[in-house]
Amino acid sequence: MKCTFIALGLLLVVSAGQSVHATTYRCPPGQLAFTFDDGPHPKHTPQVLDVLQKAGIKGTFYLLGEKVKAHPELVQRIHREGHEIGIHGWDHQRMDKLSGGATAVEKQLRDTWDAILKALGNTRNPAVIKTMRPPYGKTGRQLVPKVAGKLYLEAVNWSFSPQDWQYIGEGTLDSQPADVAVGKVNAATTQMLADIDWRLKHMNPVKRGEIILQHDTLPQTPGVLANLIERIQSKQFRIVTVSQCLADNPSKANLQSERLVDKLEIGYRHVKNATRNLVASVRKSR
Ligand SMILES: [Zn+2]
Repeated sequence: MKCTFIALGLLLVVSAGQSVHATTYRCPPGQLAFTFDDGPHPKHTPQVLDVLQKAGIKGTFYLLGEKVKAHPELVQRIHREGHEIGIHGWDHQRMDKLSGGATAVEKQLRDTWDAILKALGNTRNPAVIKTMRPPYGKTGRQLVPKVAGKLYLEAVNWSFSPQDWQYIGEGTLDSQPADVAVGKVNAATTQMLADIDWRLKHMNPVKRGEIILQHDTLPQTPGVLANLIERIQSKQFRIVTVSQCLADNPSKANLQSERLVDKLEIGYRHVKNATRNLVASVRKSR
């Protein structure tokens, strides 16, 4: 028991002394942002842009540097049509696992940033990019938000992921006959919409805002998105880009609550370790 008290004491000391950099997960109540990761993709990004254009909605695209370099014309279209661009890293490596640590994270961000600005032919306007999202949402606790902060970028994850990659993965239909691919995409779209309907039922714009994660690299995304927009529009959310939702959040209330969540997670890990050590020492003393 004494060990537990020591562990709890340690937890309080760690929590009080820890400088935790926040990651944003959601918009303020009443606002909702559609975000699209991993692109631009030569086939599906234009389809997603067509859906957004038809609906008159602006989204936020977290781009990969290597794909920006391969498809600069798509970056130009995203920007021209008034969508927001964010950084997702150069080649989708986990930023918390890079052997070069903070220096390597910074290189991923800077290289992608440079590629985007080069694609836009506008190297004098770096302010066009305000946020980043780490691949897989892995921030390495403070590591990624801290490096991002140094570059005046906010690290942004999401509040709702329909886990679209689990239905049809990127490129997995490329070698299939067209009719087979269409059948699979239609089936995946129907299944995904059925799976996310329960979540939509519980979305309440009065209580909280949302940041939705999708991938503009998947064949099912355009069809799902068109249906999702229809369902969400009936819910009275104001659909915004991520930096609009951050700008409308002067109290930073959600950042503070995420900071608390970060601290609780750190604390939980310490208590879990202390409990495991305690159990081991009791077993040993028998
Ligand atoms: Zn990704």
